[in-house]
Amino acid sequence: MLKGKTALVTGSTSGIGLGIALSLARQGANIVLNGFGDVDAARAEVTRLGVRVGYHGADMSRPAEIDALMAYAHNEFGGADVLVNNAGIQHVANVEDFPVEKWDAIIAINLTSAFHTTRLALPGMKAKNWGRVINVASTHGLVASAQKSAYVASKHGIVGFTKAVALETATTGVTVNAICPGWVLTPLVQKQVDARAQNEGVPVDEAKRRLLAEKQPSLQFTTPEQLGELTVFLCSDAAANVRGVAWNMDGGWAAQ
Ligand code: NAD
Repeated sequence: MLKGKTALVTGSTSGIGLGIALSLARQGANIVLNGFGDVDAARAEVTRLGVRVGYHGADMSRPAEIDALMAYAHNEFGGADVLVNNAGIQHVANVEDFPVEKWDAIIAINLTSAFHTTRLALPGMKAKNWGRVINVASTHGLVASAQKSAYVASKHGIVGFTKAVALETATTGVTVNAICPGWVLTPLVQKQVDARAQNEGVPVDEAKRRLLAEKQPSLQFTTPEQLGELTVFLCSDAAANVRGVAWNMDGGWAAQ
């Protein structure tokens, strides 16, 4: 379905971003990876699917590096037809104890980076009259939790950004949408599980159960593979008139 197209997925060396990159690659899209950590393992996993794979190590908190990432995608792949703004970080603390530099980093990576990638990708998409921008928000783009003020602000912000750009592109072949995962067991959430196990003096499995029981009625983690397939749907022709939605996949979290 996506043969001949290129998907740029930010923060795709692990977790949800890697899951989305793999699903898009299974549809034949060439992939531009981004992120830190075990880049070689991520690249090998996507390459096994027989598509062309590039990588750029831009730090998504730095606009000049984002410029370089987008120039790389343009020069090496003819631009991003599918842009998945996924890179994101978390920090948990009450607002009066929230480190200022953590607030700035969360807003820069989770929200402002999507402004930069989108403004740079849109002219190419509009010229081809086809494009998909998919912003990985969160259930925290729809509802809040205590001790996550920066994350909740960034995710509500990206849902608003999604709607505004969807309106600006509404008469074009470019669609702009957000997906809102509930709990997904990635390194980002494993840190919160481990902290809970330690604070509450319980085994890690019990900490996972408590984490889910608090918010996610299905008592199941959403998986990167499921989010990858939702992304594939949003890239399909059937989704050509899906615009400006914030689509949750959260085991019923936001339905409560
Ligand atoms: P993760 O920690 O597994 O992956 C984050 C990715 O972002 C990694 O590839 C990492 O290298 C990259 N990254 C981090 N900082 C970066 C930076 N400055 N520049 C470039 N890349 C950077 O986390 P995840 O759980 O897969 O999260 C991915 C997205 O999904 C985030 O936007 C997160 O907010 C969102 N999300 C996660 C959950 C969940 O339960 N895990 C739920 C809702 C939304």
